[in-house]
Amino acid sequence: MNLTIYNTLSRKKEEFKPINPPHVGLYVCGPTVYGDPHLGHARPAITFDLLFRLLKHLDYKVRYVRNITDVGHLENDADAGEDKIAKKARIEQVEPMEIVQYYTFRYHDAMKMLNVLPPSIEPRASGHIIEQIELVKRIIENGFAYESNGSIYFDVERYHKQHNYGKLSGRVIEDMIANTRDLDGQDEKRNSIDFALWKKASPEHIMRWPSPWSDGFPGWHLECSAMSTKYLGEPFDIHGGGMDLLFPHHECEIAQSVAATGKEAVRYWMHNNMITINGQKMGKSLGNFITLEELFTGKPKLLEQAYSPMTIRFFILQAQYRSTLDFSNEALQAAEKGLGRLLTAGRALAKVKSSNKSSVDVRNLSDKAFGALCDDLNSPVAIAVLFDWVRIINSLVEGKETITEADLATLKATFNKLVYDILGLVDGQVEGSKNAELTGKLIEMLLNMRLQAKANKDFATSDRIRDELNKLGVTVKDRKDGFDWEI
Ligand code: ZN
Repeated sequence: MNLTIYNTLSRKKEEFKPINPPHVGLYVCGPTVYGDPHLGHARPAITFDLLFRLLKHLDYKVRYVRNITDVGHLENDADAGEDKIAKKARIEQVEPMEIVQYYTFRYHDAMKMLNVLPPSIEPRASGHIIEQIELVKRIIENGFAYESNGSIYFDVERYHKQHNYGKLSGRVIEDMIANTRDLDGQDEKRNSIDFALWKKASPEHIMRWPSPWSDGFPGWHLECSAMSTKYLGEPFDIHGGGMDLLFPHHECEIAQSVAATGKEAVRYWMHNNMITINGQKMGKSLGNFITLEELFTGKPKLLEQAYSPMTIRFFILQAQYRSTLDFSNEALQAAEKGLGRLLTAGRALAKVKSSNKSSVDVRNLSDKAFGALCDDLNSPVAIAVLFDWVRIINSLVEGKETITEADLATLKATFNKLVYDILGLVDGQVEGSKNAELTGKLIEMLLNMRLQAKANKDFATSDRIRDELNKLGVTVKDRKDGFDWEI
C-alpha cells in the first residue's frame, strides 16, 4: 500500500518515497524540558507515534529521532532573555540539569501512559555542542553568518539573495523586516530578522561552553539541524513537529542546512495542527493551561473530570492531524464512550464462534481502514471504518450474522493490528481511571464520616476509620479545616 503525506514545504500531498528504502529517517522536535508535560505535548507525540507505527507496519526500518531541548531555548522563543531551563532552575534553586532530568522523566512517564513508543534515539542539545559549533563554522565559512561581540548571527538578507527565506512558512521577508522593531543601536544584529547561532553568555549565565568566539551557548534552532543530520544523514526523509514550530524554528533550520551544505536536509516536512480548549488557544497566560497529570487525575478545572490517557489518545486520533482539535467536556465524553464501545467489541470478538458460512464481508474492511491511514494519516476515516467492524462484531455475538473460521481469523488479526498495534490503543485503562476516581470518592466519603464522628466526640469510630484506612495503605493527615490523604 502506498503512503501519501502532505508536505508542508510543497503544500501538497505527495507519495512517500524514502531516500534509502527500506530505511526511513524520521526526526521530530521534542519538548523543552522546563515544566510538566501538558496537553500541547500530547498531540505531536501521538501524531508522530501513529506515523512511526504505520511506517513499521509498511515494513520500513524506521530510525526515529526525537530530541530533548535542554539548552538555548530562550524566553518567548527570542534571541534575548533568560534560558527557559536556567530560569526554572534559578526559581527552584537547583542545578539546570536537575530541572532537565526531572522533567525528562515526567515527560517519559506521560508518554508511556499515552502508549507513545519511545524513539530510537533521544539526543539532548547539551550533548551535541561540538556538532553545533562545527555547523556554525561551516555557515560562517560560506559567508552566511557574522560575529558580533562574541555572538554569531545568521545573515538572513544575505541568505535570501541566493535562497528563499520564508519558503516553508510562506512569510515574505520584506513584511517581516517591516513588522519587526527597528534596531536600537545597542543591538548586536545587523538586521532585526537575523537569528542567533551562538550566543555569548552573560556573567550570570550558568549553562555555557567554550567556542572559538566566546564562552556561550548555541541558538535554539541549531540543535535540530545538527542532531537530525548527525543521526539520519543528509538529506533525510521526514521532519515533523507542531505547526507552532513552523516559524521561526523550522524556517531557520532550513536556512541553516542550506547555508552550511547548499542543499535541503529534509525531503518531507510534516506539521500537526494545534489544540484549543473550549474554543480557546491554550496558554499559561490565558489561564487555561492543562497539564497531563491534571487531566489524568481529575483536577482539570476547565474539563470538570478526569479522562484516561487512552481517552485522550483516542480523542486526538479521532481528528486528522492537520485539522485543529477542540477539547471540551462533551467531545471528550463522547470519545470516552466511543472508545468503550470499540474496546468492548474487541473483547467480544474473542468469544465469537465460527460457522460454515460467512454472511458478512470482511475483506474490504481492512483495505478501507489501512487505505485511510496511508492517505496522509486519515485516522478519523480509519476509526469510522472500525465502527463498521464494531457493528459486525456485535451482530456476530448476537447470532444475527455468521462468519467462517478463515474470515474470523482475518477479522481478529486486522482488528488487533489496527486497534492495538497501529492506533496504539490499550484496553483496561478507562476502567482503571474510573476505578481510581471511585476509590478517591469512597475515601473522601469515609473521611467525611470520620469528621462527623469527631464532631460528635465519637473518637472510637473516628480512630477506627483512620486505622482501617491506614491498613489499606491510605495515610490520613488532619488539617485545621479538614484532612489530606494519600495512597
Ligand atoms: Zn526542533
